[in-house]
Amino acid sequence: MKIGVLALQGDFAEHIVMLDRLGVETAEVRLPEHLDDLDGLIIPGGESTTIGKLSVDFGLFEPLRDFGRARAIWGTCAGAIFLSKDARRDQPLLGLMDITVERNAFGRQVDSFEADLDIEPLELATKTDAPYHAVFIRAPIIESVSGEAKVLSVLPDGRIVAAQQGHLLATSFHPELTGDTRFHEYFLSLVK
Ligand code: GLN
Repeated sequence: MKIGVLALQGDFAEHIVMLDRLGVETAEVRLPEHLDDLDGLIIPGGESTTIGKLSVDFGLFEPLRDFGRARAIWGTCAGAIFLSKDARRDQPLLGLMDITVERNAFGRQVDSFEADLDIEPLELATKTDAPYHAVFIRAPIIESVSGEAKVLSVLPDGRIVAAQQGHLLATSFHPELTGDTRFHEYFLSLVK
């Protein structure tokens, strides 16, 4: 199995470290041909407008869309925004997932926080029952899911922070910034 990490901007290096720890072959993706032999792709956190614009500039926008129609993609934070079909702003979006997001939904003052989440499919896939400790940094909220998209996790107040649509995954938070590899393992279970 070989997993790519979109490496145009943001914290792609941290995802590669997590995948290395799981013994998975990885590749940094900067050009369309880098997608060819991949089984799955992670789009990291960073700045979604920048990631979108650079994808267009590097000729990756349509290839990413085609990739996501057939193969697994996981977007974390800015990556989740880029996967969405609506971010209520004019910016390039892949529109692969039937989710609407609100960027920077936690406001400026409280722009980073951590929370323990119960994510049942992840616990089942990794045969564990400890809550998942999630790190949010200027995070978006998934305002709504529609069509084929399903809610995967919510905050205690009910706001959606993870969604799944078949082989596509979106998280508001940053599993690459914790020591816990379970979310990466869960993604790999979708790739297989
Ligand atoms: N605030 C960023 C955006 O809207 C996302 C932040 C992140 O990826 N940590 O694109």
